[in-house]
Amino acid sequence: MAYVISDECISCGACAAACPVSAITEGDSKYTINPDECIDCGTCEATCPVGAPSAN
Ligand code: SF4
Ligand code: SF4
Repeated sequence: MAYVISDECISCGACAAACPVSAITEGDSKYTINPDECIDCGTCEATCPVGAPSAN
């Protein structure tokens, strides 16, 4: 289980700055979550202005 970021992402970077384990990195068209590092804390979902992250 890990959170995933949908295509709604506008690459603002807020989630990456807030993630406690630095599991989120900037990709070509959106930010992405490394499933091996994500600890399912939900901080990215709470931080995102467009609701792009969700539990997978
Ligand atoms: Fe990082 Fe938590 Fe989001 Fe996983 S759920 S990517 S650990 S902020
Ligand atoms: Fe994308 Fe939301 Fe993360 Fe901003 S906070 S980079 S819009 S997923």
